[in-house]
Amino acid sequence: MTSVEPIIRKRLLVTGVVQGVGFRPFVYRLARLHGLAGWVCNTSRCVEIDIEGTPASLAAFLGRLETEAPALARVESVVAQDAEPAGLEGFAILESRHLADTQALIPADVATCDECFAEIQDPCDRRFRYPFTNCTNCGPRFTIIRQVPYDRPHTTMADFEMCPRCRSEYEDPEDRRFHAEPTACPVCGPRVWLEGLSGERLAGDAGALEAAGGLLQDGKIVAVKGLGGFHLAADARSEAAVAELRRRKGRVAKPFAVMVRDLAEARRLGVLGDLEKNALLSRERPIVLAQKREDGGASSQVAPGNRCLGLLLPYTPLHLLLFEHSPGALVMTSGNLSEEPLAFTNQEARSKLRTLADAFLLHDRDIQVPCDDSVVRPVSPDFLIPIRRARGFVPDAIRLPLDSEPILGVGAEQKNTFCLAARGLGVLSQHIGDLDTVETFDYYRLAISHFQELCRQNPGVVAHDLHPHYLSTRYARELEEVRLVGVQHHHAHIAACLAENGRTGPCIGVALDGTGYGPDETVWGGEILVADLAGYIRAGHLEYIPLPGGEAAVRDPRRLAAAYLHRIYGPNFHAAAGRLGLDFTPLERGILARQLSGGLDSPPTSSAGRLFDAVAAALNVCRVRTYEGQPALELEMAADETEAGFYPASLRLEQETLVLDTLSIFRRAAEECWQGVDIPLIAARFHNSLVRLLAAACETVREQTGLNTVALSGGVFQNALLLTRLKERLESRGFEVLIHRLTPPNDGSISLGQTVVAAARLQQERG
Ligand SMILES: [Zn+2]
Ligand SMILES: [Zn+2]
Ligand SMILES: [Zn+2]
Repeated sequence: MTSVEPIIRKRLLVTGVVQGVGFRPFVYRLARLHGLAGWVCNTSRCVEIDIEGTPASLAAFLGRLETEAPALARVESVVAQDAEPAGLEGFAILESRHLADTQALIPADVATCDECFAEIQDPCDRRFRYPFTNCTNCGPRFTIIRQVPYDRPHTTMADFEMCPRCRSEYEDPEDRRFHAEPTACPVCGPRVWLEGLSGERLAGDAGALEAAGGLLQDGKIVAVKGLGGFHLAADARSEAAVAELRRRKGRVAKPFAVMVRDLAEARRLGVLGDLEKNALLSRERPIVLAQKREDGGASSQVAPGNRCLGLLLPYTPLHLLLFEHSPGALVMTSGNLSEEPLAFTNQEARSKLRTLADAFLLHDRDIQVPCDDSVVRPVSPDFLIPIRRARGFVPDAIRLPLDSEPILGVGAEQKNTFCLAARGLGVLSQHIGDLDTVETFDYYRLAISHFQELCRQNPGVVAHDLHPHYLSTRYARELEEVRLVGVQHHHAHIAACLAENGRTGPCIGVALDGTGYGPDETVWGGEILVADLAGYIRAGHLEYIPLPGGEAAVRDPRRLAAAYLHRIYGPNFHAAAGRLGLDFTPLERGILARQLSGGLDSPPTSSAGRLFDAVAAALNVCRVRTYEGQPALELEMAADETEAGFYPASLRLEQETLVLDTLSIFRRAAEECWQGVDIPLIAARFHNSLVRLLAAACETVREQTGLNTVALSGGVFQNALLLTRLKERLESRGFEVLIHRLTPPNDGSISLGQTVVAAARLQQERG
């Protein structure tokens, strides 16, 4: 090699999840490895690299920049510009630079990595048993960020001055803790303590974890401050402890999640295939709904009436260390009063959880953004669907199939999330909850303004549901100087499914859920749409029934069964109800008869959720609803999955709209019930019948439109039996089927759908 290679210089702009994930030290090491000079720097838009060297080494550097990026990084784009060589020397990591318009994506919280886990278990390590150990590859992110760019002074770790040893690790590009913003050690970092109900300190540091573990062994309930909020913890194998927790929380039957010490313990409680195992171990550490082992020893009170059990592994050192002293399986339920948002400050916990807990395991690292645990459900050996998208996933952006100016989607009323979209990326908020309490609504407003600050966006376009009484709709309408775009609820469902699959449509959309506002002022909820992102036509729907007493019927599935029986048997429906053992008091009977015959206070609905409620009540699978979705869930759980039988039902055309004859399905199920056919068989045949009817409707719409793609969305598709059977049947008939994989099929993704519908309409206007 005698010839001297020329020197070239490039300016690189790297966008994506590239901050707080060890990207700069990776660039530093890679540059030095290839003998390149220059610098790397975080800006509020991206990571900027100025780099100089021979063409060959620059090419090698660029080749490895994307392919070998750190595990937590996600490179969206690398834009390179040529620059004049300047004879740069050495390679440096420069301080962050502020820019007015942020595009840099904020990283999500990450479960403790193996190396940190090993350190806290090693008596020779200076972080032995330290519950706030983290590094560049793991630890809190989103939940501690006050503002961008993501640097320590902008997090709730700002109050903790680093000790010299932590400082030197933090400043050493060769160290695993180089610029690990929340890094800490027992000398300089946050501390944990156990507190009694009157504020007395019971124990500190390692002693606090041991004492908390002891209380849990004794069947007590401990409020534990975690990453995104408080949990209430209790021994999952103790009938008495779990029953007491239910009593105090006023939660009758809604399943609790169980955090287990390790994978072996998870296997004792649930059946784990590869899909479940990988989800449990993933860096997001969600709650995984696994099949429950009846001999696993979990209290019958943990998930009554449910074949599934929500399991999760410890995701912070504090949890890991707690398990050294506590029972191996702990119920870990959100630390809140029913229907209120998650408690996340020490003060809030002390006041709001004092009637629920026996002691508080507290620490002094503030939570800036509360964030619940995420929930995923494996629905077949091949795939799982998100049920609740929060910690670990938020605020990872979702790539959208179209570009737009900044748009805010304010979401639905239940299972609310909101969504900020711009430049082809959608950032979905964490699960906020049901916006029907003042506390949740306040939290919602705060969360929106924090998100807008983090994303440095003040969207001029706001998309909302058509329901005039949703608090999210009212919030949107009270905003000033914004352009409002109203989006029909089920159109938003289908648009969300299209968008997360990278599609713009058109498609056949099957939207099945509890309730959504129809433009004809009836209550929609079992809809076949022909839709693209910009618009839709209602091609079909389930048979209408009256909702006797409106919302009251939603809470009382027996009334829905009565409504179906009334549609089928007319005024003499009481005889049929009697044969099903559906007892109504004379007073109830009188009221029902009036509501059902006169339509008084009985809005008509095509809701699929209500059909499931009615069948669950008719079969006596669930006649008292104590939480949203309970009858449908228990009906699915009751079904014999080996049964292939079904009830025939037909389609008819009414004013050019298909009506799916769900009345016949209900009638046959009720008849088989009073004939004494086994309930698991009827429950399965009901599912199979609905699958056939929906597939037949899709085939009819395909004949009319030539469309061959079906998108499935809506909360009813959390039902694994319905989802997998319908998907299989449609695929066997040559359809391409889109389902939710990144966002929940329930109302948690309505905000995403709203933003893409608004984006598509704006695009259409511009031509
Ligand atoms: Zn780590
Ligand atoms: Zn330190
Ligand atoms: Zn919905």
